Amino acid sequence: MRQISAAAIAVALVGAPALADTTVIHVDRLVVDAASAPRGQSSVIVTDGRIVAVEDGFVAVPEGAKAVHLAGKTLTPGLIDLHVHLTGDPGGDFWKDAVEPDEWGVVIGAKNARLTALAGFTTVREAGSAQHTAFSLRRGTAEGLVAGPRIVAAGPAIAIVGGHADTNGFRPEINEVLSSGYTCTGAVECAEKVRRASQNGADVIKITATGGVLSQQGRGLEAHFTSEEMKSIADTAHSLGLKVMAHAHGARGIEAAARAGIDTIDHGTYIDAAAIRAMRDNGTVLVPTLMAFQGISERLGQGIYTPVVEEKVRAVADRARVFMGEAHRGGVKIAFGTDSGVFEHGRNAQEFRLMIGQGMTSRQAFASATTVAAEVLGMASEIGRIAPGYSADLIAVEGNPLEDATVFEKVDWVMVRGRVID
Ligand SMILES: [Zn+2]
Repeated sequence: MRQISAAAIAVALVGAPALADTTVIHVDRLVVDAASAPRGQSSVIVTDGRIVAVEDGFVAVPEGAKAVHLAGKTLTPGLIDLHVHLTGDPGGDFWKDAVEPDEWGVVIGAKNARLTALAGFTTVREAGSAQHTAFSLRRGTAEGLVAGPRIVAAGPAIAIVGGHADTNGFRPEINEVLSSGYTCTGAVECAEKVRRASQNGADVIKITATGGVLSQQGRGLEAHFTSEEMKSIADTAHSLGLKVMAHAHGARGIEAAARAGIDTIDHGTYIDAAAIRAMRDNGTVLVPTLMAFQGISERLGQGIYTPVVEEKVRAVADRARVFMGEAHRGGVKIAFGTDSGVFEHGRNAQEFRLMIGQGMTSRQAFASATTVAAEVLGMASEIGRIAPGYSADLIAVEGNPLEDATVFEKVDWVMVRGRVID
């Protein structure tokens, strides 16, 4: 056992606040980021939620510090899922919108936040919820009242009237009452709704650029916003320091969204050569959510979905097996996201197997869920790697994820912002 370095002691014991809470983690193998080779026995020292030192070998545990011994395990940065819906569970009961209060979403969300963290995901991007449910969860996990990941939240998605993410399938007067208030028509109104989302607490702007599979709207999967509306949304969001994530399936919708300056395309099902070119030219990142397609295909033919939805699910099944590979080979940057909520929360890491199946290496898939995703969030100096100064978002698995990222399907130990999740 070596002595802790002078620098680490200085930071852990002197430089920290009076009530410094220090944990020393001993682990047999350490992967600090997706670009580095695994290291052997190592110590990671965490003080007040931050990594303050990373040392070779097992350093001594200072008096008053907690010790965590992860024998036989590999410690890696916590994973990042850029597309989750914590406040909902899978199912086709669209009428629940009319009978369940928004507050119930917080209860469901608290359950799912814990499952998501236990699955190794220490940061998530919440891709659409009722007005305050995801924001309440965001605060709950930040303050340690709810076990769960760091949450970067969109709040209600911005949609066209009657589009995916607006309310559909009820009598007109019911649709109106249930509308979130975030539909818009024309560049001016769309800019206003972006500003409204910002005012009400959004960290990121979510739009539904094209039709969607699981809504009751039967208007196809192509572009629903005009190019002018999408450009207005992107420009307005960027002027407020916010990025835009666009749900998009149809090729022309993907292309228009990329050209408008939207930051990420989520799903991307019908991506083609022109859409790939537009994404590459504009630095647009693809978040493929392959688990969403897996989840909906598992529920086909059971009377779970309405006929209009069932038909859309069947239509996308073949594309779901190949589109990410096409984008990857075409040079599009890919970041990890699953659409959990469409399938059971906690299965997020099964996305790795699907990404590898379409041609990514384990190392690339691991990067997509750490450093690449952190960059998408604008948090590359905060999360996605294990280094002094970074948030103490750490997970332990068995095996070497750089050679086989499916090892993340079984996560043994999780720390989010210095707090162990159990
Ligand atoms: Zn989604």
